[in-house]
Amino acid sequence: MTVITRFAPSPTGRLHVGNIRTALHNWMLAKRHGGRFLLRIDDTDAERSREEYVEAIRADLAWLGLVPDAEERQSARLEVYARAFEALRAAGRVYPCYETAQELDLKRKVALGRGLPPVYDRAALALTEADHAASAAEGVAPHWRFLLDHDKPITWHDGVRGPQKFDPAQLGDPVIRRADGSWLYMLPSAIDDIDMGVTHVLRGEDHVSNTAVQIQMFTALHAAGFGAAKAVPQFAHEALLVGSEGKLSKRLGALGCDSFRERGIEPEALVALLARLGTSLPVEPIADRQELVDSFELATFGRAPARFDDAELERINTALVHQMDYSKVADRLPSGMDEAGWHAIRPNLATVADAGEWWRLVTGPIAQPEFAEEDRAYLAEAAQALTWGEDPWQALTSALKERTGRKGKALFLPLRQALTGMDHGPDMGELLPLIGEGEARARLTAASGQA
Ligand code: GLU
Repeated sequence: MTVITRFAPSPTGRLHVGNIRTALHNWMLAKRHGGRFLLRIDDTDAERSREEYVEAIRADLAWLGLVPDAEERQSARLEVYARAFEALRAAGRVYPCYETAQELDLKRKVALGRGLPPVYDRAALALTEADHAASAAEGVAPHWRFLLDHDKPITWHDGVRGPQKFDPAQLGDPVIRRADGSWLYMLPSAIDDIDMGVTHVLRGEDHVSNTAVQIQMFTALHAAGFGAAKAVPQFAHEALLVGSEGKLSKRLGALGCDSFRERGIEPEALVALLARLGTSLPVEPIADRQELVDSFELATFGRAPARFDDAELERINTALVHQMDYSKVADRLPSGMDEAGWHAIRPNLATVADAGEWWRLVTGPIAQPEFAEEDRAYLAEAAQALTWGEDPWQALTSALKERTGRKGKALFLPLRQALTGMDHGPDMGELLPLIGEGEARARLTAASGQA
């Protein structure tokens, strides 16, 4: 069996970190089993769906390196849904209703007042042909509900949550189609999962009760002749992502790829964090995707909400930037910064964008501090002692140690300050050759006040 997963966003906004995590896990689940990962654009809501969001979703997935094996769009499949709908209607699994939103609201309140579940009371099932004809004559079109089978509990073994059991009578027949003929999400999704051969539905736990309903939709569609395999996908619902403060936060809902990119977060860092957040596996700065894919296992997912912590993301990002190859970043580095420059600067970076600032230590101009008299003499000596060979820093510091008897901080710090204008920074052994002999001597001489 080829594993087929899908990521099914509605293009009504940008992806946020929670969606990104769902997309990543579906991609990983497919890759882990050599399967296929589909992008399905759930755009049946014509009013709220926007083409710009479809494009943004594609661009975000590309930035993350989660390339879909195929893309599908619900708006291109309306005829398929209409056919399935007619078959379900012939089988008596969908029925027309006319209640207004206000009427339904009132019914809900009455049910709650009586201590009953606030689900639809199926009053429309009692309507006669004459009632329907009267509505039609008044020009009132019905909306449609899916008739749940109340006979037995709905059960499945959830890949994350374990055995699940729902009483269909507590769920309420869902509206699947509006009076204007447009579709709500539930039925088209089940039809697509059948048609596209989806084997695993992995999504957030906010969809658990939808799954109960959709399992009955799968069965009803199979009975109505849809889907050759008659198999229901395996379902898994992951615990939701919460902010580090432990709550579902608005802030997380607004965090998307753009804001991460602007902050200098590498897609690899986001992937490394989200791949394992909420699982029993350690979150580590792993740049190798195959390694993450190989360790991906639904059984490692916990049921407690996964905490998203910005500080953790930044730590992982920093660690990954320190490992990044020159070839991966070359096009984002300041001009003139070569591989040796990247290697010298890399350990000091929190983000690749910071490279420009550090590279100025090499290209100059730098601002040197005021030196004490004694250090000025020392730096004048340094300017003289500078020689240019295999390892000029090693040669310079050992010569100065011998000549002046200085050691430790007194030996190194004035040199670093004179050569870079800073108290800390990249390894001087790597940096000095990049500064170059002439410039290094000029800096030492300037610092000595003898220029
Ligand atoms: N479009 C649905 C959503 O974004 C898809 C849910 C799903 O079936 O994965 O919530």
